[in-house]
Amino acid sequence: MSERRCSTALNRSGIPGVDWCVNPFVGCTHACVYCYASFMGRFGGHEAPWGTWVEPKVNVADVLARELRRPRTGEVVLSSVTDPYQPAEAQARLTRACLAALAGSGLSVSILTKSDLVVRDLDLLASFGGLLGDTRIRVGFSITTLSDELARVLEPGAPPPSRRLEALRTLAGAGIATWVFVAPALPGLSDGPDALATIADEARRCGAQTVEVDPLNFYPTAVSRLLAALTPVAPQAARALQAASRDPASWRARFRQPPPRTA
Ligand code: SF4
Repeated sequence: MSERRCSTALNRSGIPGVDWCVNPFVGCTHACVYCYASFMGRFGGHEAPWGTWVEPKVNVADVLARELRRPRTGEVVLSSVTDPYQPAEAQARLTRACLAALAGSGLSVSILTKSDLVVRDLDLLASFGGLLGDTRIRVGFSITTLSDELARVLEPGAPPPSRRLEALRTLAGAGIATWVFVAPALPGLSDGPDALATIADEARRCGAQTVEVDPLNFYPTAVSRLLAALTPVAPQAARALQAASRDPASWRARFRQPPPRTA
């Protein structure tokens, strides 16, 4: 694992409704087959496939603390093109150091992860004021499927969804605002009302305050990697993906309604 130094830590976000982003790592060994961030490999000149490498930004927290000397407002997402609690964070503790810097700032923080490692930092999360309803800090878990078996195929380096939900339950029980991001919702797996309702019900049962859905973007790389992964284990979903790829706009139109609530 090589390291790198960064010149900026707090960067303007291109995500609608999000002001800033902090990415403590370049690369992500959660290795999700549908990952939209895989283009990052091009910038670092990486030959190895996306998901097989990660570079910790070893000075990211120092740079962030320096940048936060200037008053800032708005919301920062941690993170946008990497997972802040991927396996490397267990030793690197960069996300933890960034959180410590952000706790003393005026910024709201939105964590998005697939890992239960975030529970390690419950003390810091609580220092943001983490009473239920305090949205200065919120933790989102992205969940594509409730099936641990299928997640092993789609997100081979990430903890299974059952562990994410257990972590969600722990944080929610401690009064931290939590939510679930069904991202990406996939054809044939998480695009029907029943499938979405099942995920939403389970998320709310574990304490998620909200459930949001982001339908798949049909980037050619994501589609071809998904097809290769799904065809042997979920051929019906692979066929649904092929059908949706022929008319993505129509497929995405079904998500204009909020996620269903059955409980
Ligand atoms: S956790 Fe996020 S950034 Fe990491 S590989 Fe998966 S989708 Fe990409």
